[in-house]
Amino acid sequence: MNGPALSAHSPLTSAMTDPFGRTITYLRVSVTDRCDLRCFYCMSEDMTFLPKADLLTLEELDRLCSAFIAKGVKKLRLTGGEPLVRRNVMSLVRSLSRHLDSGALRELTLTTNGTQLAKHAKELADCGVRRINVSLDTLDPQKFRAITRWGEIDKVLEGIEAARSAGLAVKINAVALKNLNEDEIPSLMQWAHGKGMGLTLIEVMPMGEIGTGRIDQYLPLSLVRARLAQQFTLTDLEESTGGPARYVSVSETGGKLGFITPMTHNFCESCNRVRITCTGTLHTCLGHEDASDLRKPLRASGDDILLSDAIDRAIGLKPKGHDFIIDRRHNRPSVSRHMSVTGG
Ligand code: SAM
Ligand code: SF4
Repeated sequence: MNGPALSAHSPLTSAMTDPFGRTITYLRVSVTDRCDLRCFYCMSEDMTFLPKADLLTLEELDRLCSAFIAKGVKKLRLTGGEPLVRRNVMSLVRSLSRHLDSGALRELTLTTNGTQLAKHAKELADCGVRRINVSLDTLDPQKFRAITRWGEIDKVLEGIEAARSAGLAVKINAVALKNLNEDEIPSLMQWAHGKGMGLTLIEVMPMGEIGTGRIDQYLPLSLVRARLAQQFTLTDLEESTGGPARYVSVSETGGKLGFITPMTHNFCESCNRVRITCTGTLHTCLGHEDASDLRKPLRASGDDILLSDAIDRAIGLKPKGHDFIIDRRHNRPSVSRHMSVTGG
């Protein structure tokens, strides 16, 4: 990248530490709000997507990510919407991989629904991606179609196999859904662990209007864990990613199981992450309406001084924690933007 020469004390390279002493080292980037599926807990069937003209170009996304890397981001996750439906997204991955080569970035990864993975797995591996998360809530083709509204599970399974053959470590993410996949969780875990893949369960979060109430979907993971513990030996693992996931090992399968429990567990004190959307909006907390526009400073000048200032100001406003609520009185989104905007 061209730009001014940077000294060790340049504001462009200063670490991002928020008012609560948390240093930001993890950036999630939603490269598109579009998706080829319509998971019913994530989107309404007739979603209105952003006009393409509002999106940052891939070059602008690269510049934005690179500015964050210069300011101390070590882990970068591409997400969406569905990141692999963004046209030419692999050119962004390839270009960002230079930060892996230079050692500035420790990990480049993505979260995907897997439908396009068979096409891209090998190139992802070639670009230095080592691990990916694939979202899959069920192994039952009919249920998969019901959850995603029209998805074909075979494509996802094919994508997972392609990723594994390319040498990528795959972790499966599954949203725990009342009356839908709750009985299937043990077999989903045995399937994933049988292939050497981790499984992380996610509680439904109240994000975005989806045309149906959350109370009907919400399954507390405390209940799922208690049920699993009757059948399996779960041992807490100490490791933490600085995020909402807590992990256990499962003796019977030899695999790792994660629980993401934003509703029942407070993880905010160790939060090391921020998110940017495909329009260049920075969200410093998944559970708050806070938003800072980075597109304007990005476009206002060819160097990164205005951009870096805007990032510092936004990090200075990162809230202490979130406040998601799902109950009968609050059966509406706590946060109005959909998960597909910020990418989970
Ligand atoms: N399309 C990609 C995928 O499905 O993996 C990436 C984006 S998707 C928004 C990221 C993750 O968020 C997925 O694992 C999805 O299941 C999860 N998700 C979406 N809406 C959610 C909600 N309201 N509550 C909890 N998890 C949600
Ligand atoms: Fe698309 Fe992922 Fe949302 Fe499903 S969860 S609709 S795959 S963005």
